[in-house]
Amino acid sequence: AKKAVLGPLVGAVDQGTSSTRFLVFNSKTAELLSHHQVEIKQEFPREGWVEQDPKEILQSVYECIEKTCEKLGQLNIDISNIKAIGVSNQRETTVVWDKLTGEPLYNAVVWLDLRTQSTVENLSKRIPGNNNFVKSKTGLPLSTYFSAVKLRWLLDNVRKVQRAVEEDRALFGTIDSWLIWSLTGGANGGVHCTDVTNASRTMLFNIHSLAWDKELCEFFEIPMKILPNVRSSSEIYGLMKISHSLKAGALEGVPISGCLGDQSAALVGQMCFQDGQAKNTYGTGCFLLCNTGRKCVFSEHGLLTTVAYKFGRDKPVYYALEGSVAIAGAVIRWLRDNLGIIKTSEEIEKLAKVVGTSYGCYFVPAFSGLYAPYWEPSARGIICGLTQFTNKCHIAFAALEAVCFQTREILDAMNRDCGIPLSHLQVDGGMTNNKILMQLQADILYIPVVKPSMPETTALGAAMAAGAAEGVGVWSLEPEDLSAVTMERFEPQINAEESEIRYSTWKKAVMKSVGWVT
Ligand code: ADP
Repeated sequence: AKKAVLGPLVGAVDQGTSSTRFLVFNSKTAELLSHHQVEIKQEFPREGWVEQDPKEILQSVYECIEKTCEKLGQLNIDISNIKAIGVSNQRETTVVWDKLTGEPLYNAVVWLDLRTQSTVENLSKRIPGNNNFVKSKTGLPLSTYFSAVKLRWLLDNVRKVQRAVEEDRALFGTIDSWLIWSLTGGANGGVHCTDVTNASRTMLFNIHSLAWDKELCEFFEIPMKILPNVRSSSEIYGLMKISHSLKAGALEGVPISGCLGDQSAALVGQMCFQDGQAKNTYGTGCFLLCNTGRKCVFSEHGLLTTVAYKFGRDKPVYYALEGSVAIAGAVIRWLRDNLGIIKTSEEIEKLAKVVGTSYGCYFVPAFSGLYAPYWEPSARGIICGLTQFTNKCHIAFAALEAVCFQTREILDAMNRDCGIPLSHLQVDGGMTNNKILMQLQADILYIPVVKPSMPETTALGAAMAAGAAEGVGVWSLEPEDLSAVTMERFEPQINAEESEIRYSTWKKAVMKSVGWVT
């Protein structure tokens, strides 16, 4: 069959905590042409530990690329039209590998992992100067969440990592670095780099000077030689060099030219380029980012300051305020895998619909402590307000409501820090397919919730960064380039008073979740 002729195409790897995807977009219309998705295993070797296999992650990327190329073939689309590839990834998750063999030296320590609690306590006792030392340089509170403490743990506890550092064979990276290094040749000339957004989540990166910070590396005792080169979010890092294990050899030689941490990618994919524009992404966790322009704004209410994006080597950097919620979609996965009350994540909507209320049941899913705005490591999950009447449908409803209440907490913090309340909330992520969740969110925030018809905004952001890079130049970042994206709106339906009562009961439940671990 004759192959259809199209404008330049751009591919994006979206490596999330729950799954990996590869997606191909038309750079002229932002239309999603084809994609493939593979779920990623999570291992919980001990209470509080969360690991993933870096090789499984890499393999899932190969599989997604291969399957997507096959699907494009079936649509008569010539894959030689793919002019660039962007990478977006789960942030903070930490990998150390051997640069000579390409083998990971330990599983990836996932952002949600809590093993570093005592590492954090020890470090916080010896913060030099005032307590602002880490926060003022990185925009982040000292917490188990960020890569530096995970890397410290690996250096302290894993003999293979120690030896590789001594022998100059160790490389550190977040998932973006691991993937770009592997996809550009691995042990045969792979490029060891990261972008400013991912670097800003390691806690070793100075968000003002945009460079690894010597004092921070000394404080965390991290050898700087194992750190990747920090590049902008949009430039050619290297060319795809595909291993013979991959059939989709046609992507060989395609530049990898975009890299953004997933939350930054979603901000870009939602076109939040103006000061004050914000988006909320509902994936494993939930992350509300508000663009603060070229100003680095520090929060008074528990939000993080982070790098939003930097489109090109000589282009300015943009910052964001971020409200991070550790557990959102993960609570649905927990109901599926640990309690077995649903077989698929989608089924949660059916259960919740049966009752249409939690009937006074509140579920605080503080599995990994509480992140923003509380930053309370002693919290653990609770389900409360139970009666003999409560059934699994009420618990399902309470789980969805919990995601909405947590978002309300960070939106309130954001409004207090920014001074100008948001008039509506732009949303995306895997959970936004759930219509009950979206309606509940509008009810609990008491502002409209607006969702793009094409929910893959994270991948879109990475594709935009890749397509716009110098030397690629197939994406102009102008709003008319997104003509394929339409919006769906959810208006608040309950009254504000009812919304407030529910929210204040939620806050009571949150207080009960604190202090379970000492
Ligand atoms: P990530 O980017 O963190 O990998 P995704 O954006 O792919 O996450 O979203 C996946 C998460 O969303 C999973 O935790 C899953 O349980 C949840 N999820 C997926 N579909 C639904 C749904 N219809 N209702 C509620 N939760 C869902």
